[in-house]
Amino acid sequence: MTATRVLVLNSGSSSLKYQLLDMRERARLATGLVERIGERTSRLKHTPLTGGGESRERGGPIADHDAALKAVAAELAQDGLGLDSPELAAIGHRVVHGGKRFTEPTVVDDAVLAEIERLIPVAPLHNPANLTGIRTARSLRPDLPQVAVFDTAFHTTMPESAARYAIDVETADRHRVRRYGFHGTSHAYVSRATAELLGKAPEEVNVIVLHLGNGASASAVRGGRCVDTSMGLTPLEGLVMGTRSGDIDPAVIFHLARVAEMSIAEIDDLLNKKSGLVGLCGDNDMREIRRMIDEGDERAQLAFDIYIHRLKKYIGAYYAVLGRVDAVVFTAGVGENAAPVREAAVAGLEQLGLAVDPELNAARGGGARLISPAGSRVAVAVVPTDEELEIATQTYALVGGGGD
Ligand code: ADP
Repeated sequence: MTATRVLVLNSGSSSLKYQLLDMRERARLATGLVERIGERTSRLKHTPLTGGGESRERGGPIADHDAALKAVAAELAQDGLGLDSPELAAIGHRVVHGGKRFTEPTVVDDAVLAEIERLIPVAPLHNPANLTGIRTARSLRPDLPQVAVFDTAFHTTMPESAARYAIDVETADRHRVRRYGFHGTSHAYVSRATAELLGKAPEEVNVIVLHLGNGASASAVRGGRCVDTSMGLTPLEGLVMGTRSGDIDPAVIFHLARVAEMSIAEIDDLLNKKSGLVGLCGDNDMREIRRMIDEGDERAQLAFDIYIHRLKKYIGAYYAVLGRVDAVVFTAGVGENAAPVREAAVAGLEQLGLAVDPELNAARGGGARLISPAGSRVAVAVVPTDEELEIATQTYALVGGGGD
């Protein structure tokens, strides 16, 4: 029997998201989520996706990631999809920070684990949880390849001119301060799917990808390779996000420390969790913000305008970086669903060959689709992202699958 299944794990500090895929059919077999790991109110939601099975929910304490993965394994076994199955080819792990070193998906061994650990100072919130996930999966199936797929990998092709901050080189190098970028798995998947939508090879097209979820980032992709992206050392830089400020004068931090006597931890919390849309109007859900605007809420309108202004600046900047643009593509929760955001982001950019057709833009659902008027010089598209499928595809290719 050929092993064609891949389990994708995305381990957060108190959560574990998973999907089991069959790569022969590129079909999802099961998906689920364990939340509030380590608390008394942990919850597991498991959804089998074959055979018409219904979602199952389970409450009660789940002490740690080890217990969480064992609980997931038990749910999968109940559907005949147990992790002891010879059909399981590998486990693919989302790892947020791969630094400069990891430019490709990588089979995990002790040296790889040690390097991911060395990167904790630049990803203190994410890498420890990702490591826990890998270690747990490894102890459960030590014989199986564990593959790390890095959020930063797609961006490692950025030239130094885009990746370096203009600060003292020695200080930067000693402390690994540079622009890494994140959401790379999504930018890779979506830029490739956009080329496919245009009927071209990735090498032939230049694309601006706008990944607009709760976190948001833009990237400039030339011929399939990332040449710039809006997130930097951390996911705080760039676009206005749900709760993050994005670009800001760094002196704001010194000012708040001096004048408001805020601690570094407080300013970190302010910029990462209490800024962006939520800081501007009290809500970070674009649906709610549109509803507030419809009711005449001025703060919501201003939050929307600031969000769009920043987005438009990045479209312009990446247009200039690329020189020639074949497509601007919207993805993730806001990008895929919020027609007013797409419309406002390209409004007034006709001189750049950019426009949306109101009817195509308003149409809901569906997969990858064009929303620019027929004959546009630059395509504007909506492409649903699929990070789990991309992690599974990269994992499967690395362990020798996909050749048949
Ligand atoms: P992340 O993975 O970063 O948490 P998602 O890509 O799932 O986020 O995007 C979540 C965001 O998508 C929500 O905060 C919400 O603002 C937005 N969103 C989801 N559905 C819609 C919709 N129908 N209209 C507008 N915005 C939406």
